[in-house]
Amino acid sequence: MTELAQLLVDWEAVIGLEVHVQLATASKAFSPSAVQFGAPPNSLTDPTVLGLPGALPVYNARALELALALGLATSSRIRMTSRFARKHYFYPDQPKNYQISQYDEPLCEHGVVDMFIGGELRRVELTRIHLEEDAGKNTHVGATSHVDLDRAGVPLVEVVTEPVMHTPEEAAEFVRALHGLVRWLGISEADMEKGQLRCDANVSVRRRGEDRLGTRTELKNINSFRFIQHAVEHEIARQLRLVESGGRVERETRLWDAVAGQSHTMRTKEEANDYRYFPDPDLPPLVVDPAQLDAIERGLPELPAARFRRYTRSGVGADEARTLVGERALADYMDAAIAAHGDEASAKFIGNWILTELLGALRAAERDVAASPLPPATLAALVRLVEDGTISGKIGKEVFEESFRTGEAPAAIVARRGVQQISNEAELGTIVERVVTANQRQADGYAGGNDKLFGFFVGQVMKETGGRANPVLTTALLKKRLGR
Ligand code: ADP
Ligand code: MG
Repeated sequence: MTELAQLLVDWEAVIGLEVHVQLATASKAFSPSAVQFGAPPNSLTDPTVLGLPGALPVYNARALELALALGLATSSRIRMTSRFARKHYFYPDQPKNYQISQYDEPLCEHGVVDMFIGGELRRVELTRIHLEEDAGKNTHVGATSHVDLDRAGVPLVEVVTEPVMHTPEEAAEFVRALHGLVRWLGISEADMEKGQLRCDANVSVRRRGEDRLGTRTELKNINSFRFIQHAVEHEIARQLRLVESGGRVERETRLWDAVAGQSHTMRTKEEANDYRYFPDPDLPPLVVDPAQLDAIERGLPELPAARFRRYTRSGVGADEARTLVGERALADYMDAAIAAHGDEASAKFIGNWILTELLGALRAAERDVAASPLPPATLAALVRLVEDGTISGKIGKEVFEESFRTGEAPAAIVARRGVQQISNEAELGTIVERVVTANQRQADGYAGGNDKLFGFFVGQVMKETGGRANPVLTTALLKKRLGR
């Protein structure tokens, strides 16, 4: 048992996450400047972003639409009239000296996100999803600091979970699920390397059986799935060592340093910010139009969790189903292939072809599934040829490879290459007879108890038929002929 596992016999970790997600809008949250990653520094500003006196913010209608889609997809309670608040703090990347956010009247509350744990769906309760704007970016070069306001005013949602997770794996999995969901909905690219999805983790420990929450620390600046797991793992271990040696966890904000694999104190409770929240007098209450909300709800796609359930119900394994719903384009490919095939009962088989042959070929060709040169209907046709015994699975892979490369229909390739499986008993029987007669010494060996020789005969039949012999029938005929 590891040291951590040992300590976790008596102690339980509690984790709540705050995830910032950039909404995929063309312009900023409260002003018309464009949103664009990698533009020249400070080229995407305007009087509102710069906080110039007299500049007034107007909330981006598209950002609201995208946030509502997330609210609905998480079954949140939508507040039909919500409010923007000013969150005050001084920092050079924020010229107004406050961030526009939502405080006591957020847009969404009490939603849920479904994630996959151990092959099953697990529900994580959300406290809230609120709207806010991003700050700019400071870059420190030696003794000089540069401020870039291109990111300032970019629309975000902050998704806050209840403190209901207990392991680093769950924390990482939640972020994966949310990442998958916002991409599935098309409301964010959520590219973590571009900072479009960022996570803060709140971690505390308590004795098992205790219902009160322990004192938490907040880990900032975690920007990859792997780091979330590492950072939380590391923080749980740090807190457990502390409490086990009679110390106490201090309420503080810690910064995760992924390079060092360590966190260090950023600010303690004493230095904690007092944000002096108050309703933003420049912005009217944000009112949701019920008709628009209905329209967004009707336009929502089937969600990953629902599709996962549908796939597993039709026989697809949990791991496979989970991979298939990991990306909407892949799941859509799966659905199109099932539809073209026409039999839901073949979903597992179709899924296997997608996950092994198709994904492998796409990876090698560096293509996205959405741009697959082999369309879903072609894959379905190929699967049918294997299922009805026209070709063997092995030949199927060769036909797949050729069809993927050339675009030729599988049936045409099979006919042209003459690779139909031999399933005719009389025809295959003749070949078996010939092979056994030609290898009498091995046949005697097998009859004398050398089981390994059976494989030799199968190989010989395959060689004779160019791999076209029906393997099940081959085995049956050989057993009969060899007398064992
Ligand atoms: P703040 O806005 O000051 O960060 P919140 O009360 O909004 O504080 O909580 C933020 C996050 O911290 C939420 O995800 C919540 O679940 C989590 N959280 C709160 N208390 C604890 C605790 N004792 N242990 C772990 N997580 C906690
Ligand atoms: Mg916080």
